[in-house]
Amino acid sequence: MEHYDVVIVGGAAMGSAAAYFLASAPAFDGRLLVLEQDFSYQRCATTLSVASVRHQFSTPENIRMSMFGTDFIRQAPTLLMVDGEAPDLAWREGGYLFLASGAGLDTLHANHRTQRELGAEVQLLDPDALRARFGWLQVDDLAGASLGLRGEGWLDAYGLMMALRRKAMALGAQYRQARVAQLLRGGSQVQGVVLEDGTRIGCGTLINAAGTGAAALARSAGIELPVQPRKRCVFHVHSPARTPGCPLVIDPSGVYFRPEGDGWLCGVAPPEDEDPACEDFEVQHALFDDVIWPVLAARVEGFEALRVQRAWAGHYDVNVLDHNMILGAHPDIDNLLFANGFSGHGLQHSPAVGRGLSELVLHRGFRTLDLSRLGWERVLQNRPLRESNVV
Ligand SMILES: Cc1cc2nc3c(=O)[nH]c(=O)nc-3n(C[C@H](O)[C@H](O)[C@H](O)COP(=O)(O)OP(=O)(O)OC[C@H]3O[C@@H](n4cnc5c(N)ncnc54)[C@H](O)[C@@H]3O)c2cc1C
Repeated sequence: MEHYDVVIVGGAAMGSAAAYFLASAPAFDGRLLVLEQDFSYQRCATTLSVASVRHQFSTPENIRMSMFGTDFIRQAPTLLMVDGEAPDLAWREGGYLFLASGAGLDTLHANHRTQRELGAEVQLLDPDALRARFGWLQVDDLAGASLGLRGEGWLDAYGLMMALRRKAMALGAQYRQARVAQLLRGGSQVQGVVLEDGTRIGCGTLINAAGTGAAALARSAGIELPVQPRKRCVFHVHSPARTPGCPLVIDPSGVYFRPEGDGWLCGVAPPEDEDPACEDFEVQHALFDDVIWPVLAARVEGFEALRVQRAWAGHYDVNVLDHNMILGAHPDIDNLLFANGFSGHGLQHSPAVGRGLSELVLHRGFRTLDLSRLGWERVLQNRPLRESNVV
């Protein structure tokens, strides 16, 4: 049986970030294999994401991870250069703007305090300041807003994933297109994986970075991972409206929009009770007509003329316990590391998670950001660490 020191299942943003950080760690001299079922990456969350980075979370770890994500993205052209070629991640620091009604103002202020304490460059705006800064925004029903001044924005998600992958390969990581059918467990160890064609591969450590495929893999090793797929639709729209200086705007209703090319991307998460686990990729066009359009037409001058140019559906890997990731080893299996349940905000956290995973492999503990509160303990004890700013 072939044997690798580390096998990573899933080679999109998370798997490739872990591969990059491990392969570039001076202390790592092992053999590293990434198993990815689909090298086209057509349906992974990374490719289908809205590719945006915000520091405006409520959980301190999420804020810190996003801040590291921004630093990493800014330095990526140097860090991820291969053979003198620097990747262009099309990073644009457009900021996020969270709008609050009277009911949401206390939460906005509480989150703002946490974000400022951690060094995020965010500013509260009252309706007059909002009106003065974003003349195209209808603010009469709002009580306030929080604006990211620096470090928040959007990028080419596929470009980031491929740049991490390319650099990891240049540093010695191997990638193989193969679907893992099962994990091989012996007591408190994972011994390896079985591929769909029956091939067995042994490993010292296994990283489960399989996105919405992660729960099935965990189950094959006797672990119940509370992560389920949820459909999220994204619409690319045009209109004659002009929105100079437009950040990624989050309406109090949950509808969001941001500039993309010569139009805008927009979407909304359905209410939880209308949001079942879902495997298909059909776009819910009624969501645009019934929910998104009425909100945007009332919020932005000229948006009543919005026209959908294209739309797609992707899958969030939602941690149904608390909408935060599950990171690290399960107490029953020492050498199986999980990086799952990113619940719609994983792309921006992929550099921090990749670095954290490399620390867990090399040192069996975190060395930079302490991400231990995001581990299995709270899941097994049913103590949610809730993120209140979920979009
Ligand atoms: C519509 C949408 C919008 C989003 N917007 C944002 C955003 O603005 N900002 C942000 O930070 N995040 C966003 N996200 C979330 C973000 O995209 C994900 O959290 C992140 O990309 C997760 O990366 P991943 O590598 O864990 O998972 P994925 O990208 O889903 O990759 C998992 C990989 O594992 C592979 N795999 C699965 N099972 C197996 C198996 N058995 N064997 C081999 N390979 C396997 C899959 O083929 C896939 O390539 C969004 C997601 C969606 C769907």
